[in-house]
Amino acid sequence: MPLHIHQFPCRSDNYGFLAHDPDTGQTASIDTPDGNAINAGLAEKGWQLTHILNTHHHVDHTEANLQLKEQWMCTIVGAANDAERIPGIDIQVTDGEEFPFGAMKAKVLEVPGHTSGHIAFYFATEGIAFVGDTLFALGCGRLFEGSPSMMWESLQKLMTLPDETVVYCGHEYTQANAKFALTIEPANERLKARSDEINALRANNLPTVPTTIGLERATNPFVRPTSKNIQATIGLQEADALTVFSETRRLKDNF
Ligand code: ZN
Ligand code: FE
Repeated sequence: MPLHIHQFPCRSDNYGFLAHDPDTGQTASIDTPDGNAINAGLAEKGWQLTHILNTHHHVDHTEANLQLKEQWMCTIVGAANDAERIPGIDIQVTDGEEFPFGAMKAKVLEVPGHTSGHIAFYFATEGIAFVGDTLFALGCGRLFEGSPSMMWESLQKLMTLPDETVVYCGHEYTQANAKFALTIEPANERLKARSDEINALRANNLPTVPTTIGLERATNPFVRPTSKNIQATIGLQEADALTVFSETRRLKDNF
C-alpha cells in the first residue's frame, strides 16, 4: 500500500508532515517544527511515531526532536555531515544511501546550500520527496551556509527527479515567491496562471504545498536560468546557468 502523508501547519509558516506506511505501521515525522502539533496530528490519524527524518539543523526543523524521542522512543535519522547539530540523532546518513522505512526505502540526497548539511528524502517507489528548505514552491532556500554554486548543484540534483514527483517543502512561502517570480519572468504564461491559483488558495487559507518537480521546472525562476525571458529581464543574456541563478538569488534577497 502506498505511503500516507498527513500535512498540517506549524509555527508561523512551517509545515509538519507525517509519513505512514500502512503495511508496517511505521510513521515518520519529517522534521519537528512543533511537538504539540505533531502529537495532535498523530492522535488525529491514530498513528504511532517510530521515526524522525531531519532535513537540516535549523531550530524550526529540530526543536521537538528530544521531546518526541523521549515520548515515543523513535529513531532519529539525519545527515552524517551535520550529526553534531541534529539533537538526538541515531542514524547518520550520507548522499545516495537508501535506508529502510517500513516496507519501502528512502533515498538520501545531500543538497547543501541553505545549510552545509542539508539533505532531502526521496521515496522513489512512492514518487515523493521531502526537500526541507532547499527547494520551495516557486523559490529556493536562502544561502545561510553555502555558496550559490553549491545551491545550484543541489537544485539540479533535485531536478533530475521525475516530473511527476510530489515535492513537500518546509514552508508556505509561495505567495511571496510568486510575486518575485513574476518580476523575473513576466512573460511565462504558466507562471501567471499558477500565480492566480496561488492567490485563490491563499485567500481561502489553503496550502500551496505540495508541488511537483514538473511544475517547478516550468515556473520556478531559480531552476530556469536558461529562460531567455529571465536572462533578458535581469540583463544577463547568454550568461551561464550559475551566473543567472546567482543573480536571481541575489535579487530575491533584496526583494
Ligand atoms: Zn531552515
Ligand atoms: Fe525552515
